[in-house]
Amino acid sequence: MTTTHTTKAHILGFPRIGAQRELKFAVEQFWKGEIDESALAQTGNALRRQHWQWQKEADLDFVTVGDFAWYDQMLNASALLGALPARFGFDAKNLILKQYFELARGNAAQPAQEMTKWFDTNYHYLVPELDENTDFAGGVDWFFYEIEEARSLGHAVKAVLPGPITFLYLAKAKTAGFDKLSLLPKVVAAYARILERLAKLGVEWLQLDEPILGLDLETEWLAAFEPVYRSFAYTGPKILLATYFESVAAHVALLRDLPVAGVHLDLVRAPQQLDVFASNWPASKVLSLGVVDGRNIWVSDLSAILARVAALQGCNIWLSASCSLLHVPVDLAQETKLDDELKGWLAFAKQKLQEISVLKRALNGADVSAELSANAAKVASRAASPRIHNPAVSARIQALSEGDARRHAVFASRQAEQKLRFNLPPLPTTTIGSFPQTKEIRAARAAFKKGTLAQNDYVEQMQAEIRLAVEKQEALGIDVLVHGEAERNDMVEYFGEQLSGFAFTQFGWVQSYGSRCVKPPVLFGDVSRPTPMTVEWTKYAQSLTQKPMKGMLTGPVTILQWSFVRDDQPRSVTTQQIALAIRDEVVDLETAGIGIIQIDEPAFREGLPLKKSDWAAYLHWAAEAFRISASGVSNQTQIHTHMCYSEFNDILPAIAAMDADVITIETSRSDMELLTGFGTFKYPNEVGPGVYDIHSPRIPPVEDMLRLIAKAAEVVPVELLWVNPDCGLKTRNWPETEAALANMLEATRQARQHL
Ligand code: GLN
Ligand code: ZN
Repeated sequence: MTTTHTTKAHILGFPRIGAQRELKFAVEQFWKGEIDESALAQTGNALRRQHWQWQKEADLDFVTVGDFAWYDQMLNASALLGALPARFGFDAKNLILKQYFELARGNAAQPAQEMTKWFDTNYHYLVPELDENTDFAGGVDWFFYEIEEARSLGHAVKAVLPGPITFLYLAKAKTAGFDKLSLLPKVVAAYARILERLAKLGVEWLQLDEPILGLDLETEWLAAFEPVYRSFAYTGPKILLATYFESVAAHVALLRDLPVAGVHLDLVRAPQQLDVFASNWPASKVLSLGVVDGRNIWVSDLSAILARVAALQGCNIWLSASCSLLHVPVDLAQETKLDDELKGWLAFAKQKLQEISVLKRALNGADVSAELSANAAKVASRAASPRIHNPAVSARIQALSEGDARRHAVFASRQAEQKLRFNLPPLPTTTIGSFPQTKEIRAARAAFKKGTLAQNDYVEQMQAEIRLAVEKQEALGIDVLVHGEAERNDMVEYFGEQLSGFAFTQFGWVQSYGSRCVKPPVLFGDVSRPTPMTVEWTKYAQSLTQKPMKGMLTGPVTILQWSFVRDDQPRSVTTQQIALAIRDEVVDLETAGIGIIQIDEPAFREGLPLKKSDWAAYLHWAAEAFRISASGVSNQTQIHTHMCYSEFNDILPAIAAMDADVITIETSRSDMELLTGFGTFKYPNEVGPGVYDIHSPRIPPVEDMLRLIAKAAEVVPVELLWVNPDCGLKTRNWPETEAALANMLEATRQARQHL
């Protein structure tokens, strides 16, 4: 082992949104015409400067430039390469900001570019839209301006872009049958021109993100890496090829021999791959070690990390976070309401810079004993805290048996008992849970939270909303009613706030897409449910009607997926704990006389691991957790679940294994195509395929819904079919909602006549 190298430190990217969500607010003001382009540009400028300054202050060896975007990094890459959807008719070289945002949000003539999840994160990117004429002839110069901007501030720059192969892989070919790989030469030529320009600017390093290497990659895509990167080897800056979110151990030989100057590994998601790479990595090549978690908010165990990488001391290594810090909030220092103990366990993006910095200094022989012992104290406090470990919860987990995850009887007998109990008509109608969240409702919730609205007044106002929703549903003639969820701000936060083991931040925002941010709860300890969470509201709602009132809960997998969760135990165990807490609520609802209970799992599919070989294990524990939450009740109690945005055909056995008596799903936008799999698979339980799209204000005509019901009846036996909208109605207003539901009921009435 040589000892000639000093260890360097860098990050793959920093959150662009701003500690105070400055970018969000500026962009939204720009959209409303409240500020002009130069005011918006100033905000962007200030944010970049700030983020680079923090990287410099943390003594990182480079600032990362190119992670900024007004809306999304993939859209920026499309604009840089000259790969914009032709249908907009925009000139990429002269693209103005207004047009950039139209690509992201649509305009009067064109719908927006499609958006989809960035790997297994909650970030959504705009899918590049390509056809055989996409010329990749270059576009806006923003990237180069930002590099000059950083250099003029005296920073050492490492530029970053999505890698060419990942860019193309994630793009969508517009023309059916068109093989987008045939565009690769044009893509490569466009990157080569960018490399030349970077060389002229004197940029030493370019990070190219190729996270698709962590997927099960088809051979033709894998085969592209060698020639593409070889063609880059002789021009321009040194290339750091960044992988993340999964192990790339299978490609160690490829990556070792690839003519790039360095490779980045995610050692948080895939720590085992370090050994594979360390054992025969050429001394000439940088190995960038992603050791600080870029996807979660816990303080790193710095001593443990140092112990793991000690053998590599003196090698050509860089230290970094596992992936871009885009996926964590910006600055913990802003949190004033968290208690000191809990706050001591957390690190947001800015704090993670410090962690990386301490690690680097340690490896370079500096005395960081004070930092390390402060860190060790935090780690020890978290590990031992009685706030995290609740013996009653672990005892319950230990005592779980197979029977706890199984209903008393099989579906057929439950169905028979439920038929007798509820006596619902054929094609029973229901809705997914939420009704319009009016300004008044939001104002009341906010005032109650602030303490300016007294508990009694708040309860009265929410009860009035429930009454209104029940009256409207009865007037419409819906069969299974809901209370409308007026008291809920968010379907995870509402439960997290009432469960033990969760904490909430004030500024822990993470970009979800464009100007939209989410503030995930922090699940820090063993989960339990001290008191009922929904029983009073649901009981009240049931007292207003003779019809069955459906209880409404969020499922364990969705609560897990949409929170920052513990890294000190497997996700499966955390999910079991949540499942037991939800189970308690389900049982209490049953005891209170609620006969139908829906446990929403919209995030069930998004929990799927990136590699197919890991799917079975996930699906096993995820479906089991759902069944734990659902199986504490008698056969006559009907359990529903709901999922949206999803294609399920490849995981139908797991959906069936959840054994919900009824599943409602989003299908209208796919014209019931999503349902055909249920038919072919012979999905055994009841299904409510959504018959209208709730995302649009359009009132769906009766004929449309009648046609969709008929189409559904062709693939699923009509005895198993329900009629409902695609999802909850909280984003709609009442007139739209009532008109749409009236049409839905009329369509159902007509469909029933044909039975
Ligand atoms: N019950 C929730 C609602 O109706 C479900 C939301 C969702 O599927 N995301 O709002
Ligand atoms: Zn939904």
